[in-house]
Amino acid sequence: MCSARPASGARATSVPSRPSTRRGAIPGVGPTLPAPIKAAATRTRSAWWLIRSRGRPDGAGLRILFYHRVSDDDDALAVSPRRFRQQMELLAAESYEVIDLASAVDLLDRGLSPPRVVALNFDDGFRDVAENALPVLERLGFRATVFLPTGVIDGTASFAWYERQPPLLGWDEVVELDRAGTLSFEAHTVTHPNLLLLHDPASRYEIAQSKLDLETKLGRPVEAFCYPAGLFGERERRFVAESGFRAAVSCEPGVNLPGEDLLTLRRRQIDPADRRLDFRAKVGGGHDTPLPLRGLYRRVRYGEGAPLRSPAAAMR
Ligand SMILES: [Zn+2]
Repeated sequence: MCSARPASGARATSVPSRPSTRRGAIPGVGPTLPAPIKAAATRTRSAWWLIRSRGRPDGAGLRILFYHRVSDDDDALAVSPRRFRQQMELLAAESYEVIDLASAVDLLDRGLSPPRVVALNFDDGFRDVAENALPVLERLGFRATVFLPTGVIDGTASFAWYERQPPLLGWDEVVELDRAGTLSFEAHTVTHPNLLLLHDPASRYEIAQSKLDLETKLGRPVEAFCYPAGLFGERERRFVAESGFRAAVSCEPGVNLPGEDLLTLRRRQIDPADRRLDFRAKVGGGHDTPLPLRGLYRRVRYGEGAPLRSPAAAMR
């Protein structure tokens, strides 16, 4: 789940635990804004991008697109299989190379961000990604990264925002899929908490243990991390670095340029209501900044007084 705005470094290190969230659950996760408002704002931006760019994608930097579910379920995190297939076919028709996060990090590390390359992520490990997205990716020769909260996959934790949690991948499937190569798996904490609300040892444990858990299952190094709900500050970034991760992704929209911080990579979420033009605009750079109401909405929803300035910007 990824819908929050990160806190500043100063804020992140001083946020006390609150009774309502002491177990680390993320309150009220879901879309960043009510779906109709978000869809209308997205359409307006996409139309403006089309006018501005005449539909030509911005070739600078590397963009990471992320999804959660690929399903016809009525779920704010579910993009329909038909729409997902159309989106991937559009990328193939426009000669995009679609790569996993590790490959994207390799490129950025070497100072490269070739045009017509995008990275693809799926957060949280829902089974419908293997059922509905994987066949499309295999057919088109695309690759993607799936971020797993290891305790939720174990069944010892669950996502706080579902009354009835959709099926997740099991460990046997994860190991088999990782070996097959189209999907590769990386870490997303143990229990998917709001890391900002945890004390130091708990926050460090969530980050470091998810790496160890996943490495034990997969039998290979795990090098990338995803901050749950995109909530992170200077402290979390430091714990991620100390745990030995090479890269980490946030939920801040934007483009990634060689030489920038690999532990606060930017990504753009593809939403269920996104139409063809919205998708083209997101891939092409028309949605590289947050929606205008996002910060305000996040502050009201999380009650965290999240700052207007992101740490990604502050730390550059
Ligand atoms: Zn998540």
